[in-house]
Amino acid sequence: MVTASPTLHDAIDEILPGLVADRRHLHEHPELGMQEVETAKFVAARLAQLGVEDIRTGVANTGVTGLIRGTGSGPGGAKVLLVRADMDALPIEEENDVEYRSQTPGIMHACGHDGHTAMLLATARLLTGRRDEFAGTVKLVFQPSEEMPPGGARPMIDAGVLEDPRVDAALGLHLAQEQPLGTIAAAAGPTMAAADMFFMTIKGKGGHGAMPHTTVDPIVAGAQIVSALQTIVSRERDPLTPAVVTVGAFLAGSAPNVIPDTATLRGTVRSFSADERQRLADRIRELSSGIATAMGAEVELDYVFGYPATSSAAEMVEIVNAAATEVVGAENVLVKVPTMGGEDMSYFLNEVPGAFFHVGSRNPERGLVWGHHHPKFDIDEAALGIGVEVMVASVLRYFATA
Ligand SMILES: [Zn+2]
Ligand SMILES: [Zn+2]
Repeated sequence: MVTASPTLHDAIDEILPGLVADRRHLHEHPELGMQEVETAKFVAARLAQLGVEDIRTGVANTGVTGLIRGTGSGPGGAKVLLVRADMDALPIEEENDVEYRSQTPGIMHACGHDGHTAMLLATARLLTGRRDEFAGTVKLVFQPSEEMPPGGARPMIDAGVLEDPRVDAALGLHLAQEQPLGTIAAAAGPTMAAADMFFMTIKGKGGHGAMPHTTVDPIVAGAQIVSALQTIVSRERDPLTPAVVTVGAFLAGSAPNVIPDTATLRGTVRSFSADERQRLADRIRELSSGIATAMGAEVELDYVFGYPATSSAAEMVEIVNAAATEVVGAENVLVKVPTMGGEDMSYFLNEVPGAFFHVGSRNPERGLVWGHHHPKFDIDEAALGIGVEVMVASVLRYFATA
């Protein structure tokens, strides 16, 4: 395995122009979640060209899967490793003046999923040419709609993507604009948060602003609730365990002298474990209904659980880190610092052990510094080759050690 690395590196140099061309094609033709029709066609056609087996399209709308069966010998012969990329773009008008600029008004690949899709195609290209170097089966998964909860991962799992053949482990990656080009970052345990939302209606009794005693003021009740929600994180939790409760919208009334009937609060809640997220949901419900009741109002709470926390398994992170060390050197293999962002790769990682690693794509010298979801977001495309090399090396290493 270790001796294969120099040739793998040469192979990356060879396929890099094609990889960049694929990424640019996808960048020019972005599609929103669950609408990745042309992207899926492009992917399926490429997989067919490569001789990928059992290509399935229309999985959970626009998802595409395929298999690469190794013909080598080794301990991983019976194992199935899922490798996942997301395909969707964002409703953002691109502000980059580049030749591969988005040709679709109002839609842009501003998170790097164009790169992820192109990288998984390149990974497939290298692995189909190296079937004799591994024993086991790679299941390629091109997933729709990561950006829009409920996402595409959950429906793909519901459609049976982890069965037939049954998946043993999973790998995924994300380009990381906050990370310097040439670095790889992963960590065991949760590195991205569970992202939940709530929509709360406080029902009072409206009336004249000069006769508050004849009303139940939902604005005053709402203000108390907003304040009380801040104590969940600051007063009820271990300060060393991160969580966020943010009220992002408080909508009520319109006239200075009218007390409205209702007020609406909308918020987002982030946490890192299943227990904690349930406890946060319970406390938001208890505090808001308790305060409303005490003030003569009522609360209707619609609590929406989004993506769970994204958590990698230690043994899979070890495989990725060993592969990354071969590719970028130990000094460029970083420990991923957790962020409060969400990712629906989490659904795969909740079902099987896996790793989600981050590929540095930031290059200040070329002005490539704009963050994910920014209209000027763009990556240093050298990251594409690095990511593919780490992914292929990780796949080979998994089957050699499984
Ligand atoms: Zn994103
Ligand atoms: Zn993303």
